[in-house]
Amino acid sequence: MPYLTPTLVKRAGPTRTDITWNDGHFSSYPSWYLRENCPCANCVDESSGIRRIPEGSIAAGLERVAVDPVGNYALHFEWSDGHSTGIYTFDYLRKLCPCPQCRPQGLEEPPQEVRKPGSFEV
Ligand SMILES: [Zn+2]
Ligand SMILES: [Zn+2]
Repeated sequence: MPYLTPTLVKRAGPTRTDITWNDGHFSSYPSWYLRENCPCANCVDESSGIRRIPEGSIAAGLERVAVDPVGNYALHFEWSDGHSTGIYTFDYLRKLCPCPQCRPQGLEEPPQEVRKPGSFEV
């Protein structure tokens, strides 16, 4: 198996990033999904590995503000909620691939809008 690296990172839209890999695999990531799985120290407790972002807490409309390569091993994303400390290694991104082949159970769709505690439906 050759070292996996993206041959194309495409900004499919603010809420979606597409990656074509050097083995021909194609991954299409919703922004909320990448944000929810942010690997940075603020989002994952380093000693326990426990994720601090509860599932379903990122709204479906979350947008990618920027994506930049980090060396030749990772991508750096900036999100519309202001978070930008996550470095996503290619290895990690490939493990996150949400395609039906990699993740037959599919993704759980996030809420359209995250309701803040105490807010009312009018
Ligand atoms: Zn993070
Ligand atoms: Zn896949």
